[in-house]
Amino acid sequence: MTDKNNTTENTEVQKKANFIDLQIEEDLKQGKNDNRVHTRFPPEPNGYLHIGHAKSICLNFGIGENFNGKTNLRFDDTNPSKEETEYVDSIMEDVRWLGFDWDNEPYFASDYFEKLHEFACKLISEGNAYIDDQNAETISNQKGTPTRPGIESPHRNRSAEESLDLFKRMTAGEFDEGACVLRAKIDMASPNMHMRDPIIYRIMKAHHHRTGDKWCVYPMYDFAHGQCDYWEGITHSICTLEFEVHRPLYDWFVNRLQETDYRPRQIEFARLNLTYTVMSKRKLLELVKDGHVNGWDDPRMPTISGLRRRGYTPESIRNFSDKIGVTKVNGMIDVTLLEHSVKEHLNKTAQRVMGVLNPLKVVITNYPENQSEELDAVNNPEDETMGKRKVPFSRELYIEREDFMEEPPRKFFRLGPGREVRLRYAYFITCNDVIKDENGEITELHCTYDPASKGGNSPDGRKVKATLHWVSVEHAVKSEVRLYDRLFSDENPDGHKEIDFKEFMNSDSLQVLPGCYIEPFVKDAKPLDHFQFERLGYFNLDPDSTTEKPVFNRTVQLRDSWAKAQQK
Ligand code: ATP
Ligand code: MG
Repeated sequence: MTDKNNTTENTEVQKKANFIDLQIEEDLKQGKNDNRVHTRFPPEPNGYLHIGHAKSICLNFGIGENFNGKTNLRFDDTNPSKEETEYVDSIMEDVRWLGFDWDNEPYFASDYFEKLHEFACKLISEGNAYIDDQNAETISNQKGTPTRPGIESPHRNRSAEESLDLFKRMTAGEFDEGACVLRAKIDMASPNMHMRDPIIYRIMKAHHHRTGDKWCVYPMYDFAHGQCDYWEGITHSICTLEFEVHRPLYDWFVNRLQETDYRPRQIEFARLNLTYTVMSKRKLLELVKDGHVNGWDDPRMPTISGLRRRGYTPESIRNFSDKIGVTKVNGMIDVTLLEHSVKEHLNKTAQRVMGVLNPLKVVITNYPENQSEELDAVNNPEDETMGKRKVPFSRELYIEREDFMEEPPRKFFRLGPGREVRLRYAYFITCNDVIKDENGEITELHCTYDPASKGGNSPDGRKVKATLHWVSVEHAVKSEVRLYDRLFSDENPDGHKEIDFKEFMNSDSLQVLPGCYIEPFVKDAKPLDHFQFERLGYFNLDPDSTTEKPVFNRTVQLRDSWAKAQQK
């Protein structure tokens, strides 16, 4: 290790137009939608948002900003059994924290339950939908396969009046869950399985987080989504690739609204997958519910709230999102690119301090007892405007235990018996004595300092091979430091068919160090404040902190494996 600061080359991206931007530009050129651009971000409030959602947020809100358009936040709350207000609140907090805001109030698919129900009635009346009272298994068995057409339901050709009547009674709660469903009447022989008379309404006797017990029939996502887009005037409805095959259905419904000529347009892009990460709300919920992590905002989670608590900045996530770009091909992004993005941002912005995680006491025997002095230290070598601070120095210090070796091997240049090193911003010191306890464990080092080397340079020009960080025992703030490693030890924990993803959890993903010492500058830190602990990494103050016991999370180490891999 050297005392050189972690200067990663500036790789901030100039955002290039992606294929969606080009399509929007083309639509604008053709004067579509009265030259409006209006997108939406449509989360289902059934969990906390993750870094994959962040990509979608940056994309949708980014388009709103770049094209001088608008972006709605719309909660897709069509499945009452999994949705909760806690998730709604966390989603709004996360979108805002990323630096985006939506137009108007947030929308909810449930705002449209009435209109959707009316539209369903219209479809029935026009002979485009029917009530099927076969059970789910039978319906599924009749679906056919991509190469073999499905079988038509015996209820497919019942009269519109009969279906309408059944739908009304279904809505009034006369039937049990699963007794019947409303299906669109499209084509049981369509090569696209989604067009084989998809279910559009089902009975669910569940309490809804917004509409309470008003409804016992709920629209399916596929049925709700396009119409909500239409009613909100969305021009470009951007979703992930797996919805490409749903697009004909999306269009089929919207075309049957027949209110105006305007049509929202669905565009698909590849979802974000990250190495060493699971990215499905269902699986993340499992980790939370079963206590594998300490909540949705556990700093090891790929959730936006977890990343925030870990020390990620909104800028670093937005930059990451720009860097990975938008494509039509599913792939896997190396998680070190995400780590690189936060390092790049914190390198420019984080306050430097010195902190010792694994302390070894050093007594400067020729420094007067009961004396201390303040030395000048640079707050951020990347940004002069951040100024300087004073760091207290005294007779007793802590250095990092790993920075001393009693019998240093050839390439170890740090402290050893009889060796001289520099203490950053302070003095040269030489180690004279190694003090041990009865077990032979080193308890302290006795060193002398050279008063003439104040500030870190010797007047006679002699050189030292290492610069160590240190803190003054008397002045340091005792803290807990939490070191995080990847939650999974496998590159693709989700990619093993036979083996559950939890089998790949890294049992060493959290290491708690209760007795660390940080220079007094951090006394006034507020939760989530960022620091670079020199030579160690980036850290931030955890909200669990108290005045008596500050807690720091390690965001990332300084070593940049992404930048290294790029050089190779
Ligand atoms: P998950 O698969 O994690 O449960 P989801 O797709 O069910 O996520 P939604 O709440 O429906 O979650 O997603 C809201 C929006 O975020 C959708 O437009 C969806 O396409 C997008 N999104 C979800 N996951 C990703 C991802 N990994 N990459 C990019 N966009 C995503
Ligand atoms: Mg979903």
